[in-house]
Amino acid sequence: MAAITMKNIVKKYGDGFPAVNDISLDIADGEFMILVGPSGCGKSTLLRMIVGLEDITSGEMLIGGDRVNEKAPRDRNLAMVFQNYALYPHLTVFENIAFPLRLHKAPDTEVKERVNQAAELLELTEHLDRKPANLSGGQRQRVAMGRAIVREAQAFLFDEPLSNLDAKLRGQMRTEISRLQKQLGITTVYVTHDQVEAMTLGDRVAVLRKGILQQVASPRTLYQEPVNLFVAGFIGSPPMNFIPATVGDGELSTPFGPMHLPESRSVDLSEHEVVLIGARPESFEDAAVVSDTIRDHGVTFDVHVDVIEWLGNEQYAYVPYEAPEDIRVQLAELERELDSEALRTQLVVSLDATSRMAEGSNAPLWLDLRKVHIFDPSTGANLT
Ligand code: ATP
Repeated sequence: MAAITMKNIVKKYGDGFPAVNDISLDIADGEFMILVGPSGCGKSTLLRMIVGLEDITSGEMLIGGDRVNEKAPRDRNLAMVFQNYALYPHLTVFENIAFPLRLHKAPDTEVKERVNQAAELLELTEHLDRKPANLSGGQRQRVAMGRAIVREAQAFLFDEPLSNLDAKLRGQMRTEISRLQKQLGITTVYVTHDQVEAMTLGDRVAVLRKGILQQVASPRTLYQEPVNLFVAGFIGSPPMNFIPATVGDGELSTPFGPMHLPESRSVDLSEHEVVLIGARPESFEDAAVVSDTIRDHGVTFDVHVDVIEWLGNEQYAYVPYEAPEDIRVQLAELERELDSEALRTQLVVSLDATSRMAEGSNAPLWLDLRKVHIFDPSTGANLT
């Protein structure tokens, strides 16, 4: 097992802008690190540089304290699990798992012992004589992991391993990977664009965008304290709402009415004319069901409720609004730049199941001001 350290890693393909741009990241021994971001953000390229499948343009990659930039993949002793598992169809499960040991000419007794151990751990013992074609997707995945386990690799690297599986199996495999990783305590780097995987699997999550590392933090910190608009909009589903507001006399003026930030969220707004107020769907509530003990921590607006989606344990309300024209122009560029649906002209808010808010009605909507974020629309920075 080993720590993985990246120092100012850059990857350029030809003359284009860097696919990976000056990334420094420390992955501790035994840590489960997720690399997440939209398509093309450079996460697979970064993983491939750890494994040695891609040259590093500049910067330094250390595994277990040793510089590996010039080391061939086979000398790095890492185990990579791909989306398609890369199993040999003509070999049995036993031989597929045994493959790396056979390559190293391990004696038969050792091969047997280690494959059986891995199979037991992965609950594959009764399938050892089968061929991959006769296994389920989840079982194939486990065979691929078995092969990684018998090698006693320094780290596991996963490149979107679950994206070919159906939703139910994906859920099961997620739990299984998490359990195995904890049991084995092996350093793991896992690439995904699925934020559920990112939030549930990792000790820490590294969010990438256009080759640049945006934030590295625990799932909880990413969700509660995103450093910028991109991370705030990328993590969370439905995404955070961003409400444009103009600043005047220490007060925020929003399409719903004025807003005074509480002490705990107060920021220096003197340099700003327009800001974006970030509020997660669950930071809102039907004012009619908010208890008196917390009501004072928020603000209540009269809104028009367009659509209600009832999900049993909660409900989503869609609340349209119009930002003033001059703000809309300012935000149009940001919207393009963020390439997310984060800046919409409707709020998506989560209401308690007991709320009786009706579609097409006007109703009082409460926002918990202790939980809002204030973003600078020009830099994207979270000012709170
Ligand atoms: P995805 O989720 O779609 O796989 P990703 O985040 O893993 O995306 P990468 O595959 O690492 O992204 O690609 C990062 C950038 O580098 C993209 O702009 C991509 O087009 C570019 N790129 C990747 N591989 C090559 C290559 N072999 N030659 C040229 N450009 C490449």
